[in-house]
Amino acid sequence: MNSIAAQLPRVAHAVQAVRDLGADSFVVRLQRNGLQFEPGQYVTVGLDGEVDAREYSIYSGPHDDHLEILVKNVPGGYLSPRLRRLAPGQKLQVDGPFGFFTISETRRAAGRFLFVASGTGISPFHCFTRAYPDIDYTLLHGVRRCNERYEMNAYQRARYTACVSRQHGGDFGGRVTDYLRRHPVDPASLCYLCGNCDMIYEAFDILKDQGVAAEQLFAEVYF
Ligand SMILES: Cc1cc2nc3c(=O)[nH]c(=O)nc-3n(C[C@H](O)[C@H](O)[C@H](O)COP(=O)(O)OP(=O)(O)OC[C@H]3O[C@@H](n4cnc5c(N)ncnc54)[C@H](O)[C@@H]3O)c2cc1C
Repeated sequence: MNSIAAQLPRVAHAVQAVRDLGADSFVVRLQRNGLQFEPGQYVTVGLDGEVDAREYSIYSGPHDDHLEILVKNVPGGYLSPRLRRLAPGQKLQVDGPFGFFTISETRRAAGRFLFVASGTGISPFHCFTRAYPDIDYTLLHGVRRCNERYEMNAYQRARYTACVSRQHGGDFGGRVTDYLRRHPVDPASLCYLCGNCDMIYEAFDILKDQGVAAEQLFAEVYF
């Protein structure tokens, strides 16, 4: 957790539901308590009465009554397995929103977007597409197995490509970076990348080699 977040008061949000998505990930739905945010931002979340907290992108849209986060259950991790075991009515401490992984109105009006996610890095893109259903986007989702294509029906099918690296049955067999190498992007695209840092660094290099200017590249690194 960053030091600014550590100094701010956190607000208790009651859990409404936890729904499983595939084998190792789940969505926690919380009371919204009037929290205002810009699509693409994240909150810090901790257990009631504990100081330790972790960052989670907001999965739900800005017009939803509730607040949702999409979480991967990291084996041996401190918080994520505990979040999986939450029951309705239990409380979480939520602080925020934080972050600048957002799309300004000017960019939204002018841009064609490439969204590149690995795993739960799809969360801010879920929020973007709920908030801005009319934007022109292509979403590449890198996962290991088909059951990690979290709620893929939320996206326009023609705009969503699942790059599945360890199983047949995806739209593309391989990583998102393999897909990008074989399908060069329109250099005018605004490119948003979210997930693990290895994917992000590799994708940055590929996109820059394909002529995308550094000012058109935006990233949110999870780990
Ligand atoms: C800005 C930001 C937004 C984030 N948004 C999300 C989100 O929307 N959903 C989400 O699931 N996580 C998200 N994360 C990661 C999250 O904050 C935690 O790091 C993660 O849930 C693990 O916490 P833990 O306490 O269970 O594990 P810890 O005990 O903190 O750490 C265990 C290990 O897990 C690794 N790890 C962290 N995340 C993952 C992952 N997704 N897959 C595999 N290994 C991982 C870490 O590198 C660490 O080595 C975000 C991180 C940042 C910085």
